[in-house]
Amino acid sequence: MPAARPNVPRPSLVDDGAELPLACKRQRLLDVAKRSRSGLFLYPLFWLVIVHVYAYASTHPVFTLIAALGLVVGAAARYGLEGRLARFASHDFRLAQRSFAWASWIFQGYWGLLCAYIVGTAESEPMRWSMLMATIGLAAGATAIMAIDAPLARWYAPLLLGPTCVVLALQGGYANWALATVFVLFFFYALKIIALVSGDYEARQRAHVLLERRAEELATAHESMRRLATYDDLTGLMNRRHMTLLLHLRAEVHRNGGDAFSIALVDLDHFKQINDVWSHAVGDEVLQGFADIARRALHDTDIIARWGGEEFLILLPYTPDRTAEASLERLRRQLADTPIAPGVPGLRLNFSAGISEHRVDEAIEQAIDRADRGLYQAKADGRGRTERV
Ligand code: GH3
Ligand code: MG
Ligand code: MG
Repeated sequence: MPAARPNVPRPSLVDDGAELPLACKRQRLLDVAKRSRSGLFLYPLFWLVIVHVYAYASTHPVFTLIAALGLVVGAAARYGLEGRLARFASHDFRLAQRSFAWASWIFQGYWGLLCAYIVGTAESEPMRWSMLMATIGLAAGATAIMAIDAPLARWYAPLLLGPTCVVLALQGGYANWALATVFVLFFFYALKIIALVSGDYEARQRAHVLLERRAEELATAHESMRRLATYDDLTGLMNRRHMTLLLHLRAEVHRNGGDAFSIALVDLDHFKQINDVWSHAVGDEVLQGFADIARRALHDTDIIARWGGEEFLILLPYTPDRTAEASLERLRRQLADTPIAPGVPGLRLNFSAGISEHRVDEAIEQAIDRADRGLYQAKADGRGRTERV
């Protein structure tokens, strides 16, 4: 015998260990891409402004070109990136995520190297400081903005400031060493910020997914309650509660000048014997079989409900071309011709019925009562017949 499977509870989405749905990951990638927009312009702008303010551009035209090239690449990425990334991510998420990460890391590294180059080569002290300040500002800002994606953002500060940090360490001297140390401390501090922000973002996503799932469960429960309140479980026919509402409504319409209608109360003949001879399960099959045949035999405008155990109520709107009796006889003929339970092929079913027509000035209960009397009469007269009262 195979070993019983241990009953491992499915990890709830609120657990940090549970995998987030792909849609959430995709959403995070697109959010990150959206947040990276401003950086694509800010980096090259900072660099270009600084090199111009300090007249560095005139002595280093190649550098100006390289910075301008960054601006062009940034602008092109800004316009082409998002729509394309969304399509890419829905096609192959992993590859889209990896490509985006590498592209943004290369972007950080590019500006990080330029910063290190200026800090290492510029003669003007104020320019070196401006460059440093600007890059620290960008590193702090970019880390905070992109922190919703921890694996991506944790490389931003080291890539942007790391090369400058190395240059400072190589240049030596107390001030440079102190600065390089501060940078390294900042890298660790940034990791903390990233962990906090990405944790919050993920928690929000988890809460959102959970809320959506609860809403779905609630809608399903609501739908099944609505079905339970309206339909009979065994036969799928309308239940007594709903039919009563409908009858009151039709009586009201009739009183206000609407169409007349008849009520038929149908009771299966000798049904108890079926239960006794073949079992309760066959009895259930017969009730279901009766419901199926009735649905097919009656007209679209006739509405049938399970009124009680093996008793059914049919609401038959008035039509000039046929009587309620004709509808019931059609049903009776179909029952006589159709095997009612798959397990007992020879079994045929008959019923007795009482019919009444609703009178404009009477309560619906009176009409039902008359149909009931008709049914009683049909049973008394030998069953398998219909009586109108
Ligand atoms: P009559 O011709 O006088 O109507 O006789 P009958 O046997 O049809 O009527 P009776 O009232 O004596 O018995 C009805 C039986 O229907 C009794 C009850 O156990 C059975 N019944 C009621 N509801 C269900 C059901 O959902 N499933 C099954 N299998 N039997 C049911
Ligand atoms: Mg009965
Ligand atoms: Mg019966």
